[in-house]
Amino acid sequence: MSAWEANVRKVEPYVPGEQPKEKNIIKLNTNENPYPPSPKVLKKMIELDRLRLYPDDKATLLVDEIAGYHGLKSSQVFVGVGSDDVLAMAFMTFFNSGKKILFPDITYSFYDVWAELLGIPYERPALDEDFNIIAKDYYKDNGGVVIANPNAPTGIARPITFIEDILKHNQDVVVIVDEAYVDFGGESSLPLIDTYDNLLVVRTFSKSRSMAGLRIGYAMGSEKLIKYMSDVKFSYNSYTMNMPSIILGAESIKDDEYFKDTVAKVIDTREWFKNEIENIGFKVLPSATNFLFISHEKVAAKEIFEKAREEKIFVRYFNKPRIDNYLRVTIGTREEMEIFLDFLKKIV
Ligand SMILES: *Cc1c(COP(=O)(O)O)cnc(C)c1O
Repeated sequence: MSAWEANVRKVEPYVPGEQPKEKNIIKLNTNENPYPPSPKVLKKMIELDRLRLYPDDKATLLVDEIAGYHGLKSSQVFVGVGSDDVLAMAFMTFFNSGKKILFPDITYSFYDVWAELLGIPYERPALDEDFNIIAKDYYKDNGGVVIANPNAPTGIARPITFIEDILKHNQDVVVIVDEAYVDFGGESSLPLIDTYDNLLVVRTFSKSRSMAGLRIGYAMGSEKLIKYMSDVKFSYNSYTMNMPSIILGAESIKDDEYFKDTVAKVIDTREWFKNEIENIGFKVLPSATNFLFISHEKVAAKEIFEKAREEKIFVRYFNKPRIDNYLRVTIGTREEMEIFLDFLKKIV
């Protein structure tokens, strides 16, 4: 080891699901939406000459559109390069007490990576045996709370009353609720931001809005919270939001009918598929998301994962304690799910 390596910030990076290069695959491993973005997004061409210019550093067009959609002031909205960027900024801005922040043992696997990167101590209370978050684990003294609701990779959603209970016990720290999947059937905590100035609600365009490739995420909260985050962001990198993301993101918000239609299709397919696989011996957790977390009574998850891969069907397998006999299956089109179902019927 060279001497300078002693002073390197050493991190173990987050590992995203595979993005295979092959054609003709069925891709159910990273919770992308199987439908394209709104035709209005696809039609809105960016004049290439405009790309010479820096984008609006405040992303005003997109911020105003999001604020209007949710009935908020623009000063209550923060946008970033996917919700990963928004969440990382929030960790950096709010979790500086030196006390442990809290998030569940089974949840989005980027939270511990950011905590490690930023030197934030953390503790991970265990979900109960049915994979539910236990509220009272979050009543103790802490440096902040992060809850994905619906949770990932379980898919389980809790009602707003559950989040409010956690907020009531945590008024002296920032509470982040990651609502990446809320559009697929969860109950949003957004109505609570008027009462709790320490609540940050985070959303993304990557799943329900079919725009993972454009990288758009946002946070909503009190004007004070948003101001603190913006100050950190503008001390780090002003031009994170590129011009196409700002313009096309705003177009997506304008086409609410298309958005609601595609979300409804995903939910329909999910419920149909859940019923079908329960009939062939799968245990399926209740899902308010665009994926299902499943386990079979006889065939090991790892085996299904590997055999599916040979058939060019990609699902997600986590080789981690408690969940190593589960698969996370993204809901694709009805046709894709029919092919996967035929495969599952053969294997079990
Ligand atoms: C997908 C996901 C994100 C990140 O989404 P972006 O593509 O970065 O917007 C954040 N949290 C959870 C729980 C997710 O599943």
